[in-house]
This record gives sequence, C-alpha cells and structure tokens, in this order.
Amino acid sequence: MRQCIYCGERAGFFERVCGDCKKLLARVEELRGKVGFVQFLDGLAETGVAKDRILKFLDTDPDGKGSVRDQVTAEMTSELMKVMGISGRQTAPEVKRIRNSVNKQSD
Ligand SMILES: [Zn+2]
Repeated sequence: MRQCIYCGERAGFFERVCGDCKKLLARVEELRGKVGFVQFLDGLAETGVAKDRILKFLDTDPDGKGSVRDQVTAEMTSELMKVMGISGRQTAPEVKRIRNSVNKQSD
C-alpha cells in the first residue's frame, strides 16, 4: 500500500493520491479561477470529504511548488490585482514566503 501524497492515508497499490483527495483535486480544477475563497471551501465541503481531511489536503505541499491553498491564493490575488489595474502577478512560492515570514514574526 502506498500513502496518499496529500493526506497520508492509504492510497492503493499504484496510486499516489487516495480517493478522497482525487475527488478534492477534481473539485479544485472545477472551481479555481471561478469563485472566491469562501465559495471555494464550500465547494470542497460539498464533496462530502471530512473537513480535517480537506484542510490537510489544502496545506500539503507534495512537490514543493506551494500547497493547494497557496496556489489558489496566488491565483485569486493575481486576479484581484488585474481587476484593480495593478501589474504583475502573485505566485504560489511568493505566497508561501510571505506566509512563512508572517508566521515567524508571530513566534
Ligand atoms: Zn488523500
């Protein structure tokens, strides 16, 4: 049995991602770029996956490119910047860097 790269649950013999996280990934693809963050979370909750699993899924960074939460935050921020006429775009590693430095300051 291999472990799911997102939540660490059993994924199956040849799978990297478990059934629940696959459902969440499919939902992320449907929702990203179309809704705000609250609706986004609601959409994930509609899959029926437990909330703690969803949060774990969002915060995992399996390939070092930023967690799903960071990627989605980056996309939403870039979209907002575009709407407000600010040039440039936010990237997931940048969101991660900012979040990490904020966390460090609060220690
Ligand atoms: Zn999983």
